[in-house]
Amino acid sequence: MALPTKHSAAALNIFTTMSSLARKENAYNLSQGLPDFPVSAALSDLLKEATVAGFNQYAPMSGLPELRQNIASGFNKRYGNDYCSPDMVTITPGATYGIFTALTTILNKGDEVIYLEPAFDCYVPAIEINGGIPVCVRLDEQQQFEIDWQQISNAITHKTKAIIINTPHNPSGKVWTQEDWDQLALIIENRDIYVISDEVYDTIVYDGLQHIPGFLQKNLAGKVLSVYSFGKMYHITGWKIGFAIAAPALTEAFRSIHQYLAFSVNTPAQYALAKYLQIADQEASAIMLQAKRDLLISRMEPSKFKLHALSRGSYFQLFDYSLISNLDDVSFARWLAVEHKVATVPLSAFYRKPPGIKQVRLSFAKNDDTLSAAAAILCNL
Ligand code: PMP
Repeated sequence: MALPTKHSAAALNIFTTMSSLARKENAYNLSQGLPDFPVSAALSDLLKEATVAGFNQYAPMSGLPELRQNIASGFNKRYGNDYCSPDMVTITPGATYGIFTALTTILNKGDEVIYLEPAFDCYVPAIEINGGIPVCVRLDEQQQFEIDWQQISNAITHKTKAIIINTPHNPSGKVWTQEDWDQLALIIENRDIYVISDEVYDTIVYDGLQHIPGFLQKNLAGKVLSVYSFGKMYHITGWKIGFAIAAPALTEAFRSIHQYLAFSVNTPAQYALAKYLQIADQEASAIMLQAKRDLLISRMEPSKFKLHALSRGSYFQLFDYSLISNLDDVSFARWLAVEHKVATVPLSAFYRKPPGIKQVRLSFAKNDDTLSAAAAILCNL
């Protein structure tokens, strides 16, 4: 018998389950957000160059200076200011780690953390493992996952220590507007509440919209820690590398924990990314993914699946299957993978209690052939 451990969460989350099912069933895998197209050859070459050039030992705890500098300069160029500096940037082994470490940095036992459902699956366990109490506020599924600010305001108590937000949002693809940020700033004005802002899809925004970073919000100065992922940005999810940006004081606190959790992040990957940031065409990548979103949507048009809210960013699009089946979403996703060889993720994976909504999430970060073949199957249902 196993000795007792701290956390009793399910051993495997639905993303892992659906991807293994996809492998077992030899199904088209539109479930997990892992691209099946190759990474840039230039980036692969830089990784090789790094290790041949001897970048194989521990990097500085906060990250390679050249990488932190290029990230900061990249934001300043993109947003036309000089706000970001390398002392605000910490390289992390992925965004999941960034979120966890941010929570470890700020939470004391019993602190409450507000999060918005549907939510990426790591938030609640990360809050709980760090001794916090998750407080859920539901986004309005009927209204394209809009935020009910009154509900957020009502959820705040004297124990509220942080709120986790996510833009562009997984799974809905909603992108926060400046108005959203202003509303949040208003609600937590004069309160000691941190904002952990999950912005892993920051460069993957469509239809001419622009992503608005949390750490740049002047009326939230000092309160926001924004988390990013090179995995999503450059389609290298297996590299597990990202970064966190916050004001220098919060960054220092974050690093004081980071130095004992990871200490330092993969050096050759940092070398490669520092160089690649200077040559990568970020817009081309968003344009390519928007074309994939549009391809999937057009191929799904003749099907009985209904587009829910149009994805404005991220790798994902939600579809309603209520015209096809009465099954709950987990059973439907399993049936689809086993009987029809298309793997998806049920929307309830993003809720603590199944919301009873008949929707599945499809990833369009896939080869066009994969998207077309999977859509052809779905059109026959
Ligand atoms: N946040 C969101 C919203 C995500 O979709 C993901 C990846 N699926 C992550 C965080 C995790 O990113 P990483 O792989 O860099 O840990």
